[in-house]
Amino acid sequence: MMNTHDLWQGVLAHLELKISRSHFTTWFRNTFIAEYNNNEVVVGVPNTIAQQWLKNKFHKDIVEALEAITEQSIRSLAYRVETKNPGPLPVESEPVRVPYAHEDLGFTVTDSMPPAPSGNIPVNNNQTFQTFVVGKQNELAHAAAQAVAAHPGGAYNPLFIYGGVGLGKTHLLHGIANEIRRRNPQARIMYVTCEHFTNDFIHSVRSGKAKEFKDRYRTVDLLLIDDIQFITGKEGTQEEFFHTFNALHQDNRQIVISSDRAPKSIAGLEKRLLSRLEWGMLVDIGQPDLETRIAILEKKCHEKGFMLPSDILELVCSTIHSNIRELEGALNKIIAVHQFRGEQPTRESVKGILASYESENVKKSVTPRQIITTVAEYFDIQIDDVLGKSREKRLAFPRQIIMYLLREEVASSFPTIGTELGGRDHTTAMHAYNKIKNLVVDDDKLIRDLENIRERLYSA
Ligand code: ADP
Ligand code: MG
Repeated sequence: MMNTHDLWQGVLAHLELKISRSHFTTWFRNTFIAEYNNNEVVVGVPNTIAQQWLKNKFHKDIVEALEAITEQSIRSLAYRVETKNPGPLPVESEPVRVPYAHEDLGFTVTDSMPPAPSGNIPVNNNQTFQTFVVGKQNELAHAAAQAVAAHPGGAYNPLFIYGGVGLGKTHLLHGIANEIRRRNPQARIMYVTCEHFTNDFIHSVRSGKAKEFKDRYRTVDLLLIDDIQFITGKEGTQEEFFHTFNALHQDNRQIVISSDRAPKSIAGLEKRLLSRLEWGMLVDIGQPDLETRIAILEKKCHEKGFMLPSDILELVCSTIHSNIRELEGALNKIIAVHQFRGEQPTRESVKGILASYESENVKKSVTPRQIITTVAEYFDIQIDDVLGKSREKRLAFPRQIIMYLLREEVASSFPTIGTELGGRDHTTAMHAYNKIKNLVVDDDKLIRDLENIRERLYSA
């Protein structure tokens, strides 16, 4: 019989084909077979968050992979948090193995440590995990951030979060800082933007204080660097950051980095620095879907004590798609205008504000009819057929995509969607919407189809 190490490598190779890359590298890193007896398997995982994800989302896939490789049926599969280091994943090359030593409650603090660094940017107390709304497009980043806050310097070091503007990267960085501080008020935390880091470095070199700079940055428990993409073209800063990184990493201090793009896409990044950034965990944040945007806006309304009726929430969220900062900006404007006028917001008054809301993130509006036509053309089927009764697969799938887009793009209600689609029941619409919404998380072909369809819709 093959040993458990080889068995698990086989399982991983199997799973890698089925699971999206970011999920695979996040949740299967540092996993191994801890016990294997009589087809009863216990998988060792680095922390409870990974444990929950494997159990809730990948259990079936793991059982299937185990059975495919052993050609036996698996009687039971359990997950146990274990901090033994089984070596890197087969896909990863890790030049240095750091000892796997972290504690549940964060850092050990000794008396001999220098005082907390000064001059860094204060952590925003309002941007916490509690005020962060989780949706499909950010749940992975959110979970990884939580794992890091629970086990700083552990399995996910560095954590690299990337994604477009206004999607919550900075919020998550502050969330990690706040959580680590909550667990350990003594933790020395340094949050800086890449620009701040650069200026600070240049300034210290010029004023002959390079040593102070090193002492400050290389002795923290947690270093968060926001918007690292600005390091492009700054060779001196890259060099310094490289050494800062190594010093912290060797000491099992946690590093968290954000960027508007993946490390590979940062122009002019030195190779050795690139490889460091890719050592740990890479997670991206995508644009939130309609439901998530509504949930976020609702939460912001609560925080500001200004409630909007649900049809107006939907109106705002279906107009502003791509950026949560814009969404908040629009809300602030709606509040300001109505408080100034002493009036209640109505659909008309809000439409007026949104119209004047000049932004590239405000999409041109499309009609339900345009969605139906575009999808039908894209899949090369007749409109009458797609609205008709046939359940043929070549029609059923495009139909579900139409229902999904009607909800996402124009915020139609489920009964309305049913009516648009040739008089179908609202539960059918709801089912179709949820089905596509779940698939879109890691079905690469569907993701591409939707991108293409949206491009046709909005460029027409
Ligand atoms: P980024 O750093 O990615 O450009 P930010 O973290 O600054 O974006 O987010 C922009 C604004 O949107 C912030 O006010 C932030 O609190 C808010 N925001 C972003 N994502 C979420 C979320 N999932 N839940 C609640 N607020 C969010
Ligand atoms: Mg930011």
